[in-house]
Amino acid sequence: MERTTTPNRAALELASVARDASTCTACGLSETRTQAVPGEGSPTAALVFVGEAPGAREDLAGRPFVGASGRLLDDLLASIGLRREEVFVLNTVKCRPPENRNPQRSETAACAPFLTRQLQALQPRVIATLGKHALAVFAPNAKIAEVHGRPYTQTEGGQQGGAVLFPLYHPAAALHNGSLRPTLERDMAALREHLNADAREGAGEATLREVDSVPTRPRPRTQGEAE
Ligand code: SF4
Repeated sequence: MERTTTPNRAALELASVARDASTCTACGLSETRTQAVPGEGSPTAALVFVGEAPGAREDLAGRPFVGASGRLLDDLLASIGLRREEVFVLNTVKCRPPENRNPQRSETAACAPFLTRQLQALQPRVIATLGKHALAVFAPNAKIAEVHGRPYTQTEGGQQGGAVLFPLYHPAAALHNGSLRPTLERDMAALREHLNADAREGAGEATLREVDSVPTRPRPRTQGEAE
């Protein structure tokens, strides 16, 4: 997607989304949240990670991915030469579902205008979804086991505008199921490879700069490793 906004305008709109979410009562999650978690990162990020929903730690901190999943996300970012401040991290719903249950379809739908505003402000080149629930918001018919680790193409109906959708497993899934971690690492390397190719094509985005010091080839899958 060619960026048609300025960093200042993007930052203002992202701040406006955060303010609006903090007082939003459009779904029942407003009744149980400590605070909304709108997301954070660089307003000029060309790579946006979209998770599912805030958890207990995020609900208390008001920031996305601050627990064990966040540490793994930071490690995965470092493995491909990126820092959290260079990307933008957000969730499909901005308030924590009770008991960390999955967000209901009605809650995701109620929160969709915030997600749309954020993506319109950021105008990312790549949207990396984390987990099957985030993927379902953009590609309802896609199965993560079949499409993870490579750009996902759909012809119409997507919410991602001109951005490339790049499905990944959720870091929490890799923490619960150790065999998914090498898969996630390999998929991140594939994401780096995609970013490098994008940079070579002259995108010129700072966050998509080519990085030579990290692996860009997926390593072979080991026996018994999850797909
Ligand atoms: S989850 Fe989204 S729609 Fe629901 S109350 Fe929070 S900000 Fe509003």
